[in-house]
Amino acid sequence: MIAVVCPWNAPFLLMTWKVGPALACGNTVVVKPSEETPLSATLLGEVMNTVGVPPGVYNVVHGFGPGAAGEFLTRHDGVDAITFTGETRTGTAIMKAAAVGIRDVSFELGGKNAGIVFADADFDAAVDGIFRSAFMNTGQVCLGTERVYVERPLFDRFVQALKLRCEAVKFGRPSDPGANYGPLISQEHRRKVLSYYERAVAEGATVVTGGGVPPMPAELADGAWVQPTLWTGLPETASVVREEIFGPCCHVRPFDSEDEVVVLANANRYGLSTTLWTRDLARAHRVAAAIEVGITWVNSWFLRDLRTAFGGSKQSGIGREGGVHSLEFYTDLRNVCIKL
Ligand code: NAD
Repeated sequence: MIAVVCPWNAPFLLMTWKVGPALACGNTVVVKPSEETPLSATLLGEVMNTVGVPPGVYNVVHGFGPGAAGEFLTRHDGVDAITFTGETRTGTAIMKAAAVGIRDVSFELGGKNAGIVFADADFDAAVDGIFRSAFMNTGQVCLGTERVYVERPLFDRFVQALKLRCEAVKFGRPSDPGANYGPLISQEHRRKVLSYYERAVAEGATVVTGGGVPPMPAELADGAWVQPTLWTGLPETASVVREEIFGPCCHVRPFDSEDEVVVLANANRYGLSTTLWTRDLARAHRVAAAIEVGITWVNSWFLRDLRTAFGGSKQSGIGREGGVHSLEFYTDLRNVCIKL
């Protein structure tokens, strides 16, 4: 039996990336969705029941993580392996639980991903791509860009273009056809993101745009709204440049050479993904080979064929999902040797 522990930021997508291959390989699963987003895992169970999946194959337990359903599930001795997507700190706790009984783990964890824009990039495509990668889903994407490095000749123009995109978002409900920007998942998460907004200022950032809460009409005032935020001028040692914030914000810094930007991009404990913008394919290959991440997108972001390897290096994960990589985790390779 496989324990599937999932986060809230893309709850159905991230759960099914695990449940699909696990069931296809003949396992049963117990899914523990995030306490913030319990509905889609339950709904999938209802669908499984109506299409005749046998009882006990797809199971769901709800609850919180530490000292509750998440921890009890990962400690349970009926669990053969644990697949987890979420924060690196939670991954550490789950790894300790998995150590008892020597259970396998597959981890997709946090990121502090770099976006790198070379001077030869298609400018508009790069602005568009970096904007999407930093601000989609209100910045609550593990693959999101929170550190942007722009080659110096483009820097000022790039920051201005990104600023205009941030200032053009329309906050509102998904049902409002004029809106294209939503709130964060919860007030608790907003407190965390706003604490980083304050810290950036305390650490000496230039706030190019945002940095606070947008004015909202009274009927929406309870939402966890935050402004898309751009910073410049911070050293790499600043906490908002080093730590995963998981909000709609990024720091933009100029660079002067390929070697310099590779060092900057690698100087982080995470290693999930990178997005590179250049017209020079030889350079794209060189930089992609030098950057310590699981996934590099060139002139694109979050393009995913489910057969390709998905996962992170360093403290961003253990193992890869997708295609044969999922087969390796959800099966157990055996050597049967017959003397003839
Ligand atoms: P989280 O780690 O707080 O929670 C994820 C899940 O783990 C939840 O279901 C939670 O209840 C459970 N959990 C928490 N503590 C536990 C414990 N001690 N034992 C067992 N289960 C426990 O993460 P989150 O806030 O839901 O999601 C955001 C994080 O997920 C970010 O760090 C983000 O980068 C990461 N993430 C990574 C990927 C990826 O593919 N690498 C994808 C999406 C999100």
